[in-house]
Amino acid sequence: MNNFTYARASSLKDAVQKATSDRNAMFIAGGTNLVDRLKVFLDQPSQLIDISRLEMKQIEKMANGGLRLGALVTNTDVADHADVRRNYPILSRAILAGASQQIRNMATVGGNLLQRTRCPYYYDTAFPCNKRQPGQGCPAISGINRMHAILGASEECVAVNPSDMSVALAALDAVVDVVGTQGKRQIPFTEFHRLPGNTPERDTNLEPGELITSLIIPPLPFAKSGVYLKLRDRTSYAFALISVAAAVDLAGDKIQTVRFAIGGVAHKPWRSKDAEEFLIGKTAETTTFQQAAEIALKEAKPLSHNSYKIELAKRAIRRALTISAKGGGVA
Ligand code: SF4
Repeated sequence: MNNFTYARASSLKDAVQKATSDRNAMFIAGGTNLVDRLKVFLDQPSQLIDISRLEMKQIEKMANGGLRLGALVTNTDVADHADVRRNYPILSRAILAGASQQIRNMATVGGNLLQRTRCPYYYDTAFPCNKRQPGQGCPAISGINRMHAILGASEECVAVNPSDMSVALAALDAVVDVVGTQGKRQIPFTEFHRLPGNTPERDTNLEPGELITSLIIPPLPFAKSGVYLKLRDRTSYAFALISVAAAVDLAGDKIQTVRFAIGGVAHKPWRSKDAEEFLIGKTAETTTFQQAAEIALKEAKPLSHNSYKIELAKRAIRRALTISAKGGGVA
């Protein structure tokens, strides 16, 4: 580990000021991903700003029926919350599928959104990596890439976002509250994470010094029938090869509204508006869901070792939508 100083933020304003006055400073809360990165020198901050004592630990019911999750609420508290379990089961199940109880007890809502890719080349500093050091190259493109992206990748990075929770939040159209030197602002969840393009070092659209304060989950009655389906190499905790968060709203057997997001395929949770629009007004049946899956994956570009993901994603979409249309449950 390199040497760094430690400072405890006394308020949101203090946290932002500290981060803004030292561009090499980093925030720390649960530290479940950051400490791993510090140990292998992926991050070498000059200062760690501890935000873990700030007042962002509440889950509040909003007047419109939605929920506000403070950025420091633990993943355990979100997954176990009665309103989350009842009204947004895809969120609860995504978190439970994401990490062990010990990690969930430490990991926070804000930190979950900011965890970085688990691309093995990124973590092994013996290899070059454009995400670690722009301009070095991307060994994953010609290397072992069975876990990597099939959608939205660039010639500079083919990594995927590892967060299960983020897939559910993308499907739920959550909104991220942030604060920075310019004050507060809100970022729609689907615009929070970035595709790699020619800036693979940037995972999100947060500006330097900005801090996540809470997440807003809008009311969505049909989310009660939501499904989170995660496919991985082993049934114990592992990062997703493919995951799907889906919720279907039916009137009789016709689809009124639908949301689905795919994980394990891109640098951000993937929503296909074309596929969702295709489903509106259609009969909820296997052939319809299969057609939607084809649309969602039509721009997929496999790498040398991950063409299997295309068929796997299509089957997962079909299955998640089918189960949600039947009222939901465990996929
Ligand atoms: Fe680095 Fe991205 Fe390439 Fe992985 S895929 S080696 S994170 S540039």
